[in-house]
Formats: sequence, C-alpha cells, structure tokens
Amino acid sequence: MSDFMPVSLVKCETYEYDEIRKALCESLSLIDGLSFVKPGMKVGIKANLVTGISPDKAVTTHPVLLKCLCELLLEKGASVVIGDSPGGLYTPAFVRGVYKNCALLELESTSAGVFKSQGDGTGKEISVTLNDDFSIKDAEFPEAVSLKSFIYTGWLDGVDAIINFSKLKTHAMMGMSCAVKNMFGTIPGTTKPEYHMRFPEEKAFANVMVDLNEFFKPVLYVVDAIDGMEGNGPTAGEKRHIGSILSSKKPYALDMVCADLIGMGLKDVQTLLVANERGLGPASVEEVEVLGQASLADARVPDFKRATIHQSITFEGGSLFNTIKSMGVKAAYNTKPLVKKTECIGCKKCFETCPAKAITMVPGKNKTGSKGQLPSIDRSKCIKCFCCQEFCPVGAMKVHYNLLGRLLNNLQS
Ligand code: SF4
Ligand code: SF4
Repeated sequence: MSDFMPVSLVKCETYEYDEIRKALCESLSLIDGLSFVKPGMKVGIKANLVTGISPDKAVTTHPVLLKCLCELLLEKGASVVIGDSPGGLYTPAFVRGVYKNCALLELESTSAGVFKSQGDGTGKEISVTLNDDFSIKDAEFPEAVSLKSFIYTGWLDGVDAIINFSKLKTHAMMGMSCAVKNMFGTIPGTTKPEYHMRFPEEKAFANVMVDLNEFFKPVLYVVDAIDGMEGNGPTAGEKRHIGSILSSKKPYALDMVCADLIGMGLKDVQTLLVANERGLGPASVEEVEVLGQASLADARVPDFKRATIHQSITFEGGSLFNTIKSMGVKAAYNTKPLVKKTECIGCKKCFETCPAKAITMVPGKNKTGSKGQLPSIDRSKCIKCFCCQEFCPVGAMKVHYNLLGRLLNNLQS
C-alpha cells in the first residue's frame, strides 16, 4: 500500500468540451477530489497563467479545462475565483491583459470580468471571478527549509480552499514545471526575481517550491497534460501532445507520475528530489498508486525533449571516483543562456527580468535590423536562473549546452 496519495490519470486527446468534461469528471471521481466542496464555499483556482499567450501554445492552463472545473464547483454550490501572478507587473492592468491573452476574459470597462471561455463550442457562459485583488501579504513560515519569511499574493487569503491547476512542461532550472512548481505563482511577479537571487542554487530554489506547497496546502491538484511543452520550456519550447488529465490531493506523487509520462524521474526534477529528501514525496513512480490507467506505459510519451539535465545526474556514494564522475557529468551539462540574434526583437524583457542584473542592452543587429539592440550577458554575474529564457516573448533566449552536453543529449534522445 502506497504511503502517498493516489494519482488519477485519464486519457483525453482533445480540448473539445464534451471530451474534457467527461475525462475531468472521471479523474476527479477516482480520487474523490471534490469531496471537500461545501455549498457557499469560495474556491480559489491557482492556474498557470505565467504569461499572456494564446492557449494553443501550450504554455498556460487551457481555458476550456478551467471552465469545466469551474462548472463542477458551481454545481456543488461553491463560488470560484481564478488567479495567478504572471511574470512581470502584479497590477490590475497588466494581469487583466494576461487574462485576455490567455482567452479567459472579455474585458468589460467596469469589472474584472466574467469568465467567458471562448471556443468551447457550447455558447454556455458561467459566472466566475477572475482575481481582481492585487494586495500583497507577509508570511512567516518557521517550518520552511528555504522560505521562512516571504510575501505573497493576498487573494489567496480570501478563499476557503485552493485548487492548483498546472500545465505539464519542461523547465530549464527545475527540469519540469508541473504541480509543485506552479505554486511559485503565489509570489508577486516583480518579487520572483528577488527570490531567485536569494536562492540561486537549484536545491534551495526547489525547496522554495516545496515550502510554498506546504504553506498554502492546496486541497486538490489537477494537471493539464493534454498538450504539454517539450524542449525550451516553460514558455518557449514546442507544444507536444501528451493526451492526459491527472489529479491528486498531493503534488509530489502527482508530479512523479507526470515526470514518468515524459521520460523523467526523481533525479531529473529538482522539486521531486527535495520533496523525497524531506519525506514528503516518493522516490520512484513504483511507489505511487495510479488509478484510471491499467498501465502507465500506455500513456507515456516517447522521446520527450528535455530543457536541460545539467543538474540532474549524480553518482551515489561519497567515493572520490563517484565525486569525480559527478563533476565530469555536471561540467558536460554546463548550460548557459545564449541569445539567438536573428530571433531577438530587442524588447528588453530579459534585461528587465534578470534578477542578477547580469544583462545590459547593447547596440547590435537583431531581427529588426542593424539599428536594434541586443542583450549582453555578464557571465560573472549570471546565476543561471533562466528567467531571461522563461520570459523572452519570442523564444530568442536559448539554453546553450557545451559540445559534450549536446552530444550526450543527442545520445539520450
Ligand atoms: S542572465 Fe538570465 S540566467 Fe543569468 S541571471 Fe540573468 S536572467 Fe538568470
Ligand atoms: S532575448 Fe528575448 S527578451 Fe531579450 S531582448 Fe531579445 S527578444 Fe527581448
């Protein structure tokens, strides 16, 4: 018997309303996921709205899925608010722009909006609030490993329960972005770079994610893994069809199953590693009870391209030989951000986002022509957080491997 909460995995091949509604209902009923809902309760859905981008790009939680979950909550008598803190300003104007671009909102002049999921073909509107409370709160969390004091988005205090609704994607720093990593969106957008600076080492940063999950304790986690993202994730990779909806009451077993679906495991995902070290998460997918799918192998996606594995390989045991082997592999995967000049539009987003102030904009020929500007990275200041890669709107900031890393990546793909 597993010590971890079961995970439900239900196949769902399209974003068609009827198929999603059926698959989501099945996934949630397998884990009794909505048993916490009481009439009159206010439920907050912490979606992944990392940036304002069309749902087709597979960066953000899909609006039709959100709509189906909202309907289920409304049918049980709850009210619903959807929110997130994207990268960038945490202001009404900026975040409403994100809602709009993520197809969550038809802006009306006087209100933050009624959720009108577009393109689901039902013509049915439901009344759900998109978060319009941009207050910021202080927290003390002495039990935390990394984040003992922090600030967070105050709208989460106004709800009775939180549902975390993430998207399955690769992530340059953490290996994978899914349920655990999604809680970083509880930190106001402009403060996120500061936390990267406070916790530049991967393990410390992964502990920030685990701390946030333990602090907010969402009652339910759902993953949009119908279309995920491979390669240069979490915002500039390629869409990849996975064809699943997953849910669980805890994030660690859920992320372990998601990692397995895309060919990763404990050592490839920093958040899974630290959760396991803290006794919160499993060491392998074999420890997780998966409901709804006779064989996980049937749902796995072969040859899923990773963002990076530079931090993922260590050899167990403290012998000198293993230490040297680990250092050698780490050197092979010594990645760095590198701008592709022909794709850069000189927008300065990377310059504005860089927490280490390692980027300056210099004159140079970019996609817009010879009078453009290009980012120049001071390698001595760079902490390799890959925020610049995450928030580049056109995917021009790449994760660069050295020659040996490229060879090893080719071998494993
Ligand atoms: S240059 Fe990019 S990777 Fe380096 S510190 Fe700045 S944002 Fe992070
Ligand atoms: S690399 Fe990306 S974020 Fe930076 S200036 Fe160029 S287009 Fe903008």
